[in-house]
Amino acid sequence: MIYVDNAATTALKPEVLDKMMPYLTSKYGNPSSIYTLGREAKEAIENARQQIADSIGAKKDEIFFTGSGSEADNWAIKGVAQSGKGRHIITSAIEHHAVLHCFEYLKRNGFEVTYLGVDSYGLVNPDDLKAAITDDTSLISIMTANNEIGTIQPVSQLGAIAKEHKIPFHTDAVQAFGHMPLDVDDINADLLSISAHKLGGPKGVGALYIRKGTRISQYMHGGAQENNKRASTENVAGIVGFGYAAVLAQKKMAENIEKMQSLRDDFIKQVYNSIPNCRLNGHPTKRLPGNVNFSFDFIEGESLLLMLDLKGIAASSGSACTSGSLDPSHVLLAIGLPHETAHGSLRVSFSEDNTAEQADTIIKELIPIVQRLREMSPLT
Ligand SMILES: *Cc1c(COP(=O)(O)O)cnc(C)c1O
Repeated sequence: MIYVDNAATTALKPEVLDKMMPYLTSKYGNPSSIYTLGREAKEAIENARQQIADSIGAKKDEIFFTGSGSEADNWAIKGVAQSGKGRHIITSAIEHHAVLHCFEYLKRNGFEVTYLGVDSYGLVNPDDLKAAITDDTSLISIMTANNEIGTIQPVSQLGAIAKEHKIPFHTDAVQAFGHMPLDVDDINADLLSISAHKLGGPKGVGALYIRKGTRISQYMHGGAQENNKRASTENVAGIVGFGYAAVLAQKKMAENIEKMQSLRDDFIKQVYNSIPNCRLNGHPTKRLPGNVNFSFDFIEGESLLLMLDLKGIAASSGSACTSGSLDPSHVLLAIGLPHETAHGSLRVSFSEDNTAEQADTIIKELIPIVQRLREMSPLT
């Protein structure tokens, strides 16, 4: 099998599993307990907290572990909006549903929402953000990099605008974390969401960075975990794995970026050279190192995926969360694709474990599949 859906999730790295194993077996103590077994678990969590903090230029007590990236987004957005005074909040049209659906929820509950549009590459224009801000704006949330088309936003600039107006700035960095350098001060982020399973860590653990002094409500009521802000007995093994995955990603970042960019750019060139009537979605250079997203005219993305699957290739038509529904991607519509074209899209997301041979195999299988689907298509 060739797995190129690393934007949906990644394989757990064996070294990460090794670090987790003791906490799934012998070191099973509750981190809130005061005897040795408990204190060991607590220390492991605090060690991971430091590792995560170091990987984004944060302080240790600004990292709060959550059950996922989605949870970090929910906490950041609802927690800040509902504890602020203003009733106006700003986001972009191409956010992950974990962000968009929070804004829709808040809108139903009396907030006024501005959805910033994007250009044909998927970029938010900082001038549009400036123009959207009012005296009543209490939160701005713009993702660091898009999960479908890979476009990297000018988050430092957007964050600086928010800072100038003293408005809390949240960025969903789930797709970017571990794949490009991130620094909360460079970004001017007050809140930043990340998740372990997008960088070789386990599923079911994420984190929210909260800058000291940011007003945010408690997320879960119960115990005193996560500095009294998020009750729940911690997912100790998951947190340990998350911390170590972050360390590994930091250590190999430059090397991995170079490798994946070269896989990506070769793949893009090959598609352009061998398949007519296609277009690359997203920005040609301001994009995640492993992300490729193409639209092929006259074909249907789901059929393309099923035929690739028959050849042992696991890819995606965009976001994992929208597959299963037949609505075209909101991201592809926002960058201006017509409905028919948005339906015929393919996302290939590489990890550092993919090889040039695998990329070649995908191209070799893709060419006749696209041709066959076009011959069958009533649109051609
Ligand atoms: C995967 C993803 C999420 C959700 O993270 P989970 O840990 O799967 O809940 C949120 N935002 C973006 C951009 C993502 O890619």
